[in-house]
Amino acid sequence: MTHAYRSPWLDDELEAFRDAVRRFANNVLAPREPKWQQARRVDTLSWRDVGGMGMLLAGVPECYGGGGGTFAHDCVVFEELEYAGVTSLGKHVHEICAHYVLAHGTEEQKRRWLPPMARGELVGAIAMSEPSAGSDLQGILTRAVRSGDELVLDGSKTFISNGQVAGLLCVVAKTDPGAGAKGISLLMVETGDLAGFRRGATLDKIGQHGQDTSELFFDGCRVPAANVLGGTEGRGFAQLMDQLPYERAIIGLVAVAAMERALRLTTDYARERRAFGKALIEMQNTRFRLAEAKTLAHVGRVFIDSCIQRFLAGTLDTATASMAKWWLTDVQCQVVDECLQLHGGYGYMREYPIARMYADARVQRIYGGTNEIMKEIIARTL
Ligand SMILES: Cc1cc2nc3c(=O)[nH]c(=O)nc-3n(C[C@H](O)[C@H](O)[C@H](O)COP(=O)(O)OP(=O)(O)OC[C@H]3O[C@@H](n4cnc5c(N)ncnc54)[C@H](O)[C@@H]3O)c2cc1C
Repeated sequence: MTHAYRSPWLDDELEAFRDAVRRFANNVLAPREPKWQQARRVDTLSWRDVGGMGMLLAGVPECYGGGGGTFAHDCVVFEELEYAGVTSLGKHVHEICAHYVLAHGTEEQKRRWLPPMARGELVGAIAMSEPSAGSDLQGILTRAVRSGDELVLDGSKTFISNGQVAGLLCVVAKTDPGAGAKGISLLMVETGDLAGFRRGATLDKIGQHGQDTSELFFDGCRVPAANVLGGTEGRGFAQLMDQLPYERAIIGLVAVAAMERALRLTTDYARERRAFGKALIEMQNTRFRLAEAKTLAHVGRVFIDSCIQRFLAGTLDTATASMAKWWLTDVQCQVVDECLQLHGGYGYMREYPIARMYADARVQRIYGGTNEIMKEIIARTL
């Protein structure tokens, strides 16, 4: 007798929330994907629609405009977006930006930015990477120099997700270049009509075409000193380190959901497609490949569920979150590649979801800290 596995962090209330999210993702958002992929961005009205459905900041307290749920609510939304093939919405960086504010912002900062972010009126982005510094964050050149009750921001960022639509940027900048990690601050930049701020073109990527990954330029931008996250300069590096498990758990979860989707799509395809007088699924190689993929997806599911439970309990450490990030994204690429192979030539056509999943998956091993950096972090705990 087989028993269906159910993630231990789920309950009936979350399942009801999942049903509503699933319907909206399938009926409203998924049909917009082709338009977003062509435009290379999600339009601002759609962001508001998603916010209006309670799919943004679901885990943020209601007093800050959020859904009043937990990380489990966020997880349900991430899963359902992936299952529905809604991959253009930069919800991950939006949520990460919001969680920086929630975890480290002053009371005034939380009340100012979180409610419009929950409504999808203010889109968030994280601006860490620079043309000459990605993994090595301490090597960033962006400077924020105090001038009265303002900071003057100079520098450039690259590869910034939500770069074209973001109205709130969490910018990593050096406020005291001689102080090493203690000289880094997170500056919350409201792009509005900020003088000296410029967005570069949307970058031309091999996948994730609906995401507006961009370069950003700051040329003498005057930002209120009150916009330093938490109100005090020099805390940026510690704030970044504190939030990394959140970001890495999300990337790991999306990797698992992608494997689950790839498996479902490919199983359906293998049942339909015939060769040599029988369905592909009747061939032993197909059955074994799918059995292996199912095993990997399930092992991944159990591991990420353990990470989610530990995150909910406040005990997910950086090394374990790093294991989830590197291993699950590596396995995602392996599983999606096998699933594409089982589609034959159709797997290489962008018209087929598995082709887009293949191109979309690759960057999971790069952003959010490369998988090599994850292994460095884990190795420090040996
Ligand atoms: C689509 C996309 C979206 C992104 N979104 C964002 C975003 O929203 N915000 C943001 O700030 N950034 C974003 N990034 C940037 C991303 O986080 C960086 O690309 C990543 O951190 C790697 O930095 P890098 O590209 O400078 O590579 P590098 O740091 O130059 O690394 C090059 C190679 O060297 C390896 N390497 C580096 N250091 C070590 C080491 N110590 N030991 C072993 N190997 C090492 C790396 O693993 C990699 O394989 C995004 C990138 C992409 C492609």
